[in-house]
Amino acid sequence: MCRHRWRPVRAPWCSRCGQPEPSFGACRLCAAWPEALRFVRSAVWLDAGARAAVHALKYGGLPRIARDLAAAMTDVDLPGRDSAWLVPVPLGPRRLWQRGYNQSERLARALSRHWRRPVVELLARTRETTTQTALTPEARLANVAGAFEVRSGKCGVRSGRLPANSAFRTPNSALILVDDVFTTGATLAEAARALEVAGATTIAAVTFGRAVIPDFT
Ligand SMILES: [Zn+2]
Repeated sequence: MCRHRWRPVRAPWCSRCGQPEPSFGACRLCAAWPEALRFVRSAVWLDAGARAAVHALKYGGLPRIARDLAAAMTDVDLPGRDSAWLVPVPLGPRRLWQRGYNQSERLARALSRHWRRPVVELLARTRETTTQTALTPEARLANVAGAFEVRSGKCGVRSGRLPANSAFRTPNSALILVDDVFTTGATLAEAARALEVAGATTIAAVTFGRAVIPDFT
Protein backbone atom coordinates (compact mmCIF):
# COMPACT_ATOMS: atom_id res chain seq x y z
CA MET A 1 0.00 0.00 0.00
CA CYS A 2 1.47 3.36 -1.05
CA ARG A 3 0.98 5.04 2.26
CA HIS A 4 3.33 7.93 1.48
CA ARG A 5 1.09 8.95 -1.41
CA TRP A 6 -1.74 9.77 0.95
CA ARG A 7 -2.17 13.52 1.12
CA PRO A 8 -2.58 14.85 4.67
CA VAL A 9 -5.38 17.29 5.41
CA ARG A 10 -3.68 20.44 6.64
CA ALA A 11 -4.65 23.73 8.24
CA PRO A 12 -5.99 26.37 7.69
CA TRP A 13 -9.34 24.86 8.39
CA CYS A 14 -12.51 25.52 10.33
CA SER A 15 -11.36 25.01 13.92
CA ARG A 16 -14.45 22.96 14.63
CA CYS A 17 -15.07 20.66 11.69
CA GLY A 18 -11.61 20.71 10.15
CA GLN A 19 -12.90 21.67 6.73
CA PRO A 20 -10.61 24.03 4.81
CA GLU A 21 -11.60 27.57 5.67
CA PRO A 22 -14.34 29.10 3.59
CA SER A 23 -13.13 32.29 1.95
CA PHE A 24 -15.54 34.46 3.90
CA GLY A 25 -18.18 34.18 6.60
CA ALA A 26 -18.90 31.41 9.08
CA CYS A 27 -18.52 27.73 8.28
CA ARG A 28 -21.83 26.31 7.11
CA LEU A 29 -20.76 22.69 7.25
CA CYS A 30 -20.78 22.44 11.04
CA ALA A 31 -23.27 25.19 11.92
CA ALA A 32 -26.12 22.79 12.75
CA TRP A 33 -24.05 20.19 14.60
CA PRO A 34 -24.93 19.31 18.20
CA GLU A 35 -23.11 21.58 20.60
CA ALA A 36 -21.16 18.76 22.25
CA LEU A 37 -19.40 17.90 18.99
CA ARG A 38 -16.48 20.27 19.21
CA PHE A 39 -13.65 19.09 17.00
CA VAL A 40 -13.53 16.87 13.94
CA ARG A 41 -10.34 16.10 12.07
CA SER A 42 -9.34 13.77 9.27
CA ALA A 43 -5.92 12.37 8.48
CA VAL A 44 -5.83 12.38 4.68
CA TRP A 45 -7.77 13.49 1.63
CA LEU A 46 -9.86 10.76 0.11
CA ASP A 47 -8.27 10.75 -3.31
CA ALA A 48 -7.65 7.62 -5.35
CA GLY A 49 -4.97 6.00 -3.18
CA ALA A 50 -6.70 6.64 0.13
CA ARG A 51 -10.03 5.58 -1.35
CA ALA A 52 -8.51 2.26 -2.39
CA ALA A 53 -7.24 1.76 1.15
CA VAL A 54 -10.69 2.42 2.64
CA HIS A 55 -12.22 0.10 0.09
CA ALA A 56 -9.76 -2.62 1.06
CA LEU A 57 -10.56 -2.04 4.73
CA LYS A 58 -14.31 -2.31 4.11
CA TYR A 59 -14.66 -4.83 1.34
CA GLY A 60 -11.35 -6.61 0.99
CA GLY A 61 -11.84 -8.74 4.07
CA LEU A 62 -8.53 -7.42 5.29
CA PRO A 63 -9.14 -5.76 8.63
CA ARG A 64 -5.40 -5.79 9.27
CA ILE A 65 -5.22 -2.86 6.89
CA ALA A 66 -6.69 -0.92 9.81
CA ARG A 67 -3.19 -0.80 11.26
CA ASP A 68 -1.86 1.14 8.27
CA LEU A 69 -4.78 3.53 8.24
CA ALA A 70 -4.58 4.07 11.99
CA ALA A 71 -0.87 4.83 11.66
CA ALA A 72 -1.80 7.71 9.36
CA MET A 73 -4.27 8.94 12.00
CA THR A 74 -1.90 8.97 14.98
CA ASP A 75 -0.64 12.50 14.43
CA VAL A 76 -4.13 13.97 14.27
CA ASP A 77 -4.23 16.37 17.19
CA LEU A 78 -7.47 16.63 19.11
CA PRO A 79 -7.87 18.61 22.34
CA GLY A 80 -8.49 16.26 25.26
CA ARG A 81 -7.05 13.30 23.39
CA ASP A 82 -4.87 12.20 26.29
CA SER A 83 -7.83 11.51 28.53
CA ALA A 84 -10.40 10.53 25.93
CA TRP A 85 -12.32 7.36 25.26
CA LEU A 86 -12.48 6.14 21.68
CA VAL A 87 -15.98 5.37 20.43
CA PRO A 88 -16.29 3.57 17.09
CA VAL A 89 -19.20 4.51 14.85
CA PRO A 90 -21.22 1.28 14.73
CA LEU A 91 -22.60 -0.67 11.81
CA GLY A 92 -26.10 -2.04 11.72
CA PRO A 93 -26.38 -5.75 12.55
CA ARG A 94 -27.04 -6.79 8.97
CA ARG A 95 -24.01 -5.03 7.58
CA LEU A 96 -21.89 -6.23 10.46
CA TRP A 97 -22.94 -9.79 9.71
CA GLN A 98 -22.21 -9.39 6.00
CA ARG A 99 -18.79 -7.84 6.55
CA GLY A 100 -17.82 -9.85 9.58
CA TYR A 101 -16.34 -6.83 11.35
CA ASN A 102 -16.90 -3.14 11.82
CA GLN A 103 -14.13 -1.25 10.02
CA SER A 104 -14.48 1.73 12.39
CA GLU A 105 -14.06 -0.54 15.39
CA ARG A 106 -10.89 -2.00 13.84
CA LEU A 107 -9.58 1.52 13.25
CA ALA A 108 -10.41 2.54 16.82
CA ARG A 109 -8.62 -0.50 18.26
CA ALA A 110 -5.54 0.09 16.12
CA LEU A 111 -5.56 3.77 17.07
CA SER A 112 -5.99 2.94 20.74
CA ARG A 113 -2.63 1.19 20.71
CA HIS A 114 -0.94 4.36 19.43
CA TRP A 115 -2.80 6.75 21.70
CA ARG A 116 -3.03 4.38 24.67
CA ARG A 117 -6.65 5.24 25.17
CA PRO A 118 -9.48 2.75 25.73
CA VAL A 119 -12.10 1.81 23.16
CA VAL A 120 -15.70 1.75 24.38
CA GLU A 121 -18.46 0.62 22.07
CA LEU A 122 -21.02 3.01 23.43
CA LEU A 123 -23.17 3.29 20.34
CA ALA A 124 -25.50 0.99 18.44
CA ARG A 125 -27.45 1.53 15.24
CA THR A 126 -31.16 1.61 15.80
CA ARG A 127 -31.79 0.85 12.14
CA GLU A 128 -29.94 0.14 8.94
CA THR A 129 -29.31 3.20 6.80
CA THR A 130 -28.99 3.14 3.05
CA THR A 131 -25.62 3.86 1.58
CA GLN A 132 -24.98 7.60 1.53
CA THR A 133 -22.90 7.81 -1.59
CA ALA A 134 -25.40 9.43 -3.92
CA LEU A 135 -27.22 11.59 -1.41
CA THR A 136 -27.21 15.37 -1.10
CA PRO A 137 -26.14 16.86 2.26
CA GLU A 138 -29.79 17.37 3.27
CA ALA A 139 -30.70 13.82 2.29
CA ARG A 140 -27.73 12.51 4.23
CA LEU A 141 -28.97 14.19 7.39
CA ALA A 142 -32.44 12.74 6.93
CA ASN A 143 -30.97 9.34 6.16
CA VAL A 144 -29.12 9.09 9.48
CA ALA A 145 -31.63 10.93 11.70
CA GLY A 146 -32.21 8.89 14.85
CA ALA A 147 -29.96 6.10 13.57
CA PHE A 148 -27.94 5.75 16.79
CA GLU A 149 -28.56 5.00 20.42
CA VAL A 150 -26.29 4.68 23.43
CA ARG A 151 -25.94 1.15 24.70
CA SER A 152 -26.62 0.39 28.31
CA GLY A 153 -23.69 -0.78 30.38
CA LYS A 154 -25.32 -4.15 30.74
CA CYS A 155 -25.53 -5.21 27.13
CA GLY A 156 -22.78 -4.47 24.77
CA VAL A 157 -19.88 -2.75 26.44
CA ARG A 158 -17.04 -5.18 26.39
CA SER A 159 -14.97 -4.38 29.42
CA GLY A 160 -17.88 -4.99 31.74
CA ARG A 161 -17.36 -2.32 34.37
CA LEU A 162 -20.05 0.11 33.26
CA PRO A 163 -17.73 2.29 31.20
CA ALA A 164 -20.80 3.70 29.49
CA ASN A 165 -21.84 5.42 32.66
CA SER A 166 -18.40 6.24 34.00
CA ALA A 167 -17.40 7.82 30.70
CA PHE A 168 -20.20 10.31 31.17
CA ARG A 169 -19.54 10.80 34.86
CA THR A 170 -15.88 11.67 34.44
CA PRO A 171 -16.01 15.34 33.54
CA ASN A 172 -12.63 15.54 31.82
CA SER A 173 -13.08 12.41 29.76
CA ALA A 174 -13.74 13.48 26.23
CA LEU A 175 -15.22 11.00 23.81
CA ILE A 176 -13.62 10.65 20.40
CA LEU A 177 -15.76 9.14 17.68
CA VAL A 178 -13.77 7.08 15.20
CA ASP A 179 -14.93 6.51 11.62
CA ASP A 180 -13.31 5.64 8.33
CA VAL A 181 -14.52 8.53 6.16
CA PHE A 182 -15.86 12.06 6.63
CA THR A 183 -18.06 13.33 3.83
CA THR A 184 -20.52 15.94 5.15
CA GLY A 185 -20.27 15.01 8.82
CA ALA A 186 -23.92 13.92 8.95
CA THR A 187 -23.13 10.51 10.43
CA LEU A 188 -20.75 11.90 13.05
CA ALA A 189 -23.20 14.65 13.97
CA GLU A 190 -25.98 12.12 14.46
CA ALA A 191 -23.75 9.81 16.50
CA ALA A 192 -22.70 12.80 18.62
CA ARG A 193 -26.35 13.75 19.09
CA ALA A 194 -27.08 10.35 20.64
CA LEU A 195 -24.09 10.69 22.99
CA GLU A 196 -25.12 14.25 23.89
CA VAL A 197 -28.63 13.10 24.76
CA ALA A 198 -27.03 10.50 27.04
CA GLY A 199 -25.07 13.23 28.82
CA ALA A 200 -21.77 13.58 26.99
CA THR A 201 -20.59 17.17 26.83
CA THR A 202 -17.22 16.95 25.09
CA ILE A 203 -17.11 14.97 21.88
CA ALA A 204 -14.52 15.01 19.16
CA ALA A 205 -14.16 12.83 16.11
CA VAL A 206 -11.39 11.55 13.91
CA THR A 207 -11.61 9.89 10.52
CA PHE A 208 -9.01 8.42 8.23
CA GLY A 209 -10.27 10.01 5.01
CA ARG A 210 -11.98 13.27 4.15
CA ALA A 211 -13.97 13.39 0.96
CA VAL A 212 -13.93 16.46 -1.18
CA ILE A 213 -17.55 17.50 -0.89
CA PRO A 214 -19.34 17.21 -4.21
CA ASP A 215 -21.02 20.39 -5.34
CA PHE A 216 -24.77 19.82 -5.13
CA THR A 217 -25.75 23.41 -5.73
ZN1 LIG B 1 -16.89 24.07 10.28
